[in-house]
Amino acid sequence: MKDFDTVFDKVAIIGLGLIGSSLTRAISDKKLANQVLGFDGSEVVRAEARGIEGFGADVTETLEEAVSNADLIIMAVPVGAVGSLAQELCPHLKDGAILSDVGSVKKSIIDTVVPHLPETCHFVPGHPVAGTEYSGPKAGFSTLFEGRWCILTPIENTPRLEVEKVSNLWAGLGSDVEEMDAEHHDIVLAITSHIPHLIAYNIVGTAADLEEVTSSEVIKYSAGGFRDFTRIAASDPVMWRDVFMNNKEAVLEMLGRFTEDLTQLQRHIRRGDGQALEDLFTRTREIRRSIIEAGQATE
Ligand code: NAP
Repeated sequence: MKDFDTVFDKVAIIGLGLIGSSLTRAISDKKLANQVLGFDGSEVVRAEARGIEGFGADVTETLEEAVSNADLIIMAVPVGAVGSLAQELCPHLKDGAILSDVGSVKKSIIDTVVPHLPETCHFVPGHPVAGTEYSGPKAGFSTLFEGRWCILTPIENTPRLEVEKVSNLWAGLGSDVEEMDAEHHDIVLAITSHIPHLIAYNIVGTAADLEEVTSSEVIKYSAGGFRDFTRIAASDPVMWRDVFMNNKEAVLEMLGRFTEDLTQLQRHIRRGDGQALEDLFTRTREIRRSIIEAGQATE
C-alpha cells in the first residue's frame, strides 16, 4: 500500500455535520495534516463538537480563525450555503491556499464559488460518494470514506500539483479517487443518487397519504420493501432540498426517462406481459450482483 505522508500542514473543515465531522476524525486519525481546525455556523454544533472525544479538530469560535492560516479549506455545508460561505471566507484565505468542498452537486457550486476566489488561491471541487441518513457532528465516523469513491471535478487552469494534493488526501482517507467533468458528475449522480432519493421521498409520502390503509399497517408490514425506502427518505431535508434546487436540469432529464419506463411497466402489468416483467427483474438482479462484486454493497 502507498504510504501517505502528511499532505497538508493546516486543514480547516467548515460545517461540522455528518461529512465535516467524519473528515475531522479521519484526517486526524490517519495523520494526514499537522493540525485540523473546525468551524460551524451553529453555536450549538460547535459546543457539541468540542464535547466529542476523538473529534480530531480544534473548533474555533470564528470562521476567520479557522481559515486564515489553513493550506486546505474544505466546505462541508449544504449545497445552497456554499456560495455565501465562499464569499465570506475567501477574503481571509492566505496566498496559495486550496479551497475544496464535498457538495453532492458540482456545476452550480463551481458557478457560485469561482467569482469569489482570489487569484492567488485554487478551487478543487470534490464529492465523496459516501454517507448515511444521519446528520450532525455525532453522526460522523472516521471510516466513512474507506472503500468509497471520491469524485473530483477540477476546473480549467488549476495546476495539476494542487489537484493531486487534494486527490492524495482522499486516497489517504481510503477512498478511490476519480476525476470527471462537473456536468458529467451531475448527470451520473442524478441517476445513481438523486432520483433514488426522490423516489424514496415520493413512495413514503404516498404511503403516508393513503386513506385505505392505516398508518399502523404501513409500519407493521414495512418489511415488505417499504422499510428500505424509509431509510433513504429519512435523509437530511435541507441537504436534499438543496440538491434538487441545484441539479434541476439533470434530475428533470432523468426523471423524464424514469417516467417513460414506469409507464411501460404499467403497460406490461395491464396487458399481463409476465415475460417482459421477468426479463427486466432478471436484468436488475445482475446489476445488484455487479455492485456487490465491486465492493460497493454487502449481501
Ligand atoms: P449536515 O450533517 O446537516 O451538516 C452541515 C453542517 O453545516 C450543519 O452543522 C450546519 O449548521 C452547518 N452550516 C450550514 N451553513 C453553514 C455556514 N454558512 N457556515 C458554517 N456552517 C454551516 O450535512 P452533511 O450531511 O454533512 O452534508 C454536508 C455536505 O456534504 C452537503 O453539501 C452534502 O451535499 C454533502 N454530502 C452529503 C452526503 C450525505 O450522505 N449526507 C454525502 C456526500 C456529500 P446548521 O444545521 O445550523 O445549519
